[in-house]
Amino acid sequence: MNPLEEFMYRQGYTKEEIEIVRKAYLYAEKMHDKQLRLSGEPYIIHPLNVAMILVEMHVDVDTICAGLLHDTLEDTKATKLELVSEFNISVANLVDGVTKLAKMNFSSVEAANLANIRKIITGITEDIRIIIIKLADRLHNMRTLQYQKREKQREIAYETMQLYAPLAHRIGAYHIKNELEDLSLKYLKPEEYQKTLEQYVEIQEESRPCLYEMLNKIHDALNDQEIPNTIKTRIKNVYGIYKYESQGKKISEIHDLLVIKVIVEMVDECYRALGHIHRMYHPLNERFKDYICNPKTNLYQSLHTTVFGEDERLVQAQIRTYDMNRIASYGLVAYWDSKEEIRKNLQSKLREKYQFLPSLVELDKMFGDNKEFVTQVGHELFSDSVFVYTTKGEVIELPKGSTPIDFAYKIHTDVGNQMIRAIVNDEYVPFNYQLKDYDRVKIITANRNNKPDPIWEEWAKTSYAKKKVRDYYRKQNG
Ligand code: MN
Repeated sequence: MNPLEEFMYRQGYTKEEIEIVRKAYLYAEKMHDKQLRLSGEPYIIHPLNVAMILVEMHVDVDTICAGLLHDTLEDTKATKLELVSEFNISVANLVDGVTKLAKMNFSSVEAANLANIRKIITGITEDIRIIIIKLADRLHNMRTLQYQKREKQREIAYETMQLYAPLAHRIGAYHIKNELEDLSLKYLKPEEYQKTLEQYVEIQEESRPCLYEMLNKIHDALNDQEIPNTIKTRIKNVYGIYKYESQGKKISEIHDLLVIKVIVEMVDECYRALGHIHRMYHPLNERFKDYICNPKTNLYQSLHTTVFGEDERLVQAQIRTYDMNRIASYGLVAYWDSKEEIRKNLQSKLREKYQFLPSLVELDKMFGDNKEFVTQVGHELFSDSVFVYTTKGEVIELPKGSTPIDFAYKIHTDVGNQMIRAIVNDEYVPFNYQLKDYDRVKIITANRNNKPDPIWEEWAKTSYAKKKVRDYYRKQNG
């Protein structure tokens, strides 16, 4: 067994599945024969590692095969037709999709590159697995970036920070996002990275006794209550610490610097575990979050509570089920290896669930110009967000600086057009009010025949709302 097969076996893939992947491996090895990486190793090392990352994410077998084959169309004499006959149409389409995204360059402003970025961004609305493969490809390239020339390193790292880390965050793949961020910082700002890394190691050393003691105490307490559990500890990633400090904040102010992850089997055990932890360690009341009943818009679920831990240190406890934990590490792709019928519907489910996908589709329709499109995605999807509540408690995500106008049009065009009052936290607000996190927003609409004020176009933050206001008058005049 090669390391990939062994890893698949350990991760619970079936014999048949491992057999299919072996065939893809041998095919890729044959195709890339005699090619070398910059490191001097045989080229197959790269697709093999990409496949390992994908296996760790629990993706389906077609995606693992496509990961092994992802460079064959571009760099070898393999053809799409051959991939169809050797494997299947789905594998061939995935490889083709990844190939079309290749050879792009985010740091340059050339038209061709912008067109490519656009393809990457809109690609996730077609088959999100293409982006997953691309993320795994990028992660391995970042891990082996030391072999590239200085200039190339910076280019790739910049693109990773601008495009791939936010994408990983968008789909809720925190594990991958954190590593991509750290590796990018390492090449973009080597000195700052080194300095922060030293701090990171220091924090790790001095917090170890505290975290270890808490881990053991919580573990024992939950075992006493017959709540089966796995507990892990972690500290914030290097980039996370760097970002905090660069905003002029002190390390001691980071409420999730030290984290204890408590993983249990059932949802109700999450709440029971929370109760036990609060009885052992006083919670900081204002830092409790229930992301189980109110999932984040990237579908992340967990209970968060910051407690006064051992040694008077603040420690954030994150309590979730094993299923939720897989999603938190790798995004909803973690569900791909489950039942076939679930898999079939996944793309449409993702469309429904990820709030950013419809926004992407809208932006794609709206901007003919690639540069405008890319800029707008940067402003609206990859920048900071505010999270507000509807009156029913549903969480709506909007770019920072959004107003009730953006909220109303995000709910429905008619709600926007018919809006006569906006109420935030039970008080009337002007339509150019800037929404804040946790605002409860209620829009009062007229029965009919209301029209949006043309000034709204200026007051709205999102291109979507602006366009809706414009459209209204265009329709009236046309
Ligand atoms: Mn590659």
